[in-house]
Amino acid sequence: MAAFWTEADFDDHELVQLVHDRASGLTAIVALHSTHLGPGAGGTRFWHYPDPAGAMRDALRLSRGMSYKNAMAGLPMGGGKAVVMLDAQRTKTPEMLAAFGDAIDAFGGRYVTAEDVGASEADMVAIAERTPHVCGLPVGEGHAGGDPGPFTAFGIYHGIKSAVAHKLGQASLAGVRVAMQGCGSVGGGVARLLAKDGARLTLSDIDADKARALAAELGAEAVAAEAVMATPCDVFSPNALGAILDEAGIARLDCTIVAGGANNQLARREHGRLLAERGILYAPDYVINAGGIINVSLEYLARQHGEAFDAEDVRRRILQIPERLEAIWRESEETGDSPDVVADRMAQRLIGRG
Ligand code: NAD
Repeated sequence: MAAFWTEADFDDHELVQLVHDRASGLTAIVALHSTHLGPGAGGTRFWHYPDPAGAMRDALRLSRGMSYKNAMAGLPMGGGKAVVMLDAQRTKTPEMLAAFGDAIDAFGGRYVTAEDVGASEADMVAIAERTPHVCGLPVGEGHAGGDPGPFTAFGIYHGIKSAVAHKLGQASLAGVRVAMQGCGSVGGGVARLLAKDGARLTLSDIDADKARALAAELGAEAVAAEAVMATPCDVFSPNALGAILDEAGIARLDCTIVAGGANNQLARREHGRLLAERGILYAPDYVINAGGIINVSLEYLARQHGEAFDAEDVRRRILQIPERLEAIWRESEETGDSPDVVADRMAQRLIGRG
């Protein structure tokens, strides 16, 4: 029998726990990667894993990612993640959510959850009936969370501005050509902010009508989803899928900057170096897309401390994303390491593992 701590994704996690509730049929894994900076925070993924090893890998990999993301966002939060292993029909019952809420509560605040793939705001509300250690609750009734998309988009917009200043030596976005992959909650928000500054946008979405409608609203151009990565532009902004930056994807790019909100854009570690070798400036995804986590974390911390939610503090912290990116790019230039490697190293230092 293989032990999980021999998995390649095991990275000195502080705690990995199997949660099983016989009565409701709940089976989940909670992984706390690091609580060096604060409670391990990260969403719960509800998914059907044909092989339980896949659930373990997700819990290990995603909780480490949250440690890095929260640290680089300057939050007093560590990294954690939970995966709930659903059956093939994706059955999710109120009893399972209640049992899961009790399990989170038993961590006494060492793990804080939120939405991830397969979870809804309603699920978080159900969990909140059993534990206070949950965020990303709907706006109202003392909660300030809500949709993280606009906050994420706001941070990406400022990240793109700093990338343009750094790479193109240009303070204004007027006339800067941006090709956008994905026009959803994040991509749509970024596009609207860029359009206000006079950027020249080429929009794409797998839902072509969505891209066309947004293009009409913003006076932009729409292209087919398959064409966007090869569009000649200054900035390619991925705001849809992960793992798009592989050998083939990078070879197609005709840009000088990659800066967007999609999670896990690099298919593998070496692809960061490949971008650098092509002279393309990369904004590490978990640094530029931290606006949403900043918002929900501050919502949680305010509630824990019985304080009013401070929207101005959220804004101030999101506006620090550009200076973090600048620091990464400077260290990258000084050391010759690609920005993703530098970001990981900075995050490791922040969580006391440097
Ligand atoms: P969303 O579902 O609102 O939007 C995604 C859009 O991408 C959809 O319109 C979809 O049709 C489109 N799409 C899917 N595949 C595509 C393809 N191959 N080519 C072009 N378009 C495609 O999701 P979102 O909340 O905007 O999130 C987008 C990305 O940002 C995801 O990777 C997500 O993990 C990441 N992210 C989101 C947030 C947030 O606050 N919502 C925070 C951090 C990271």
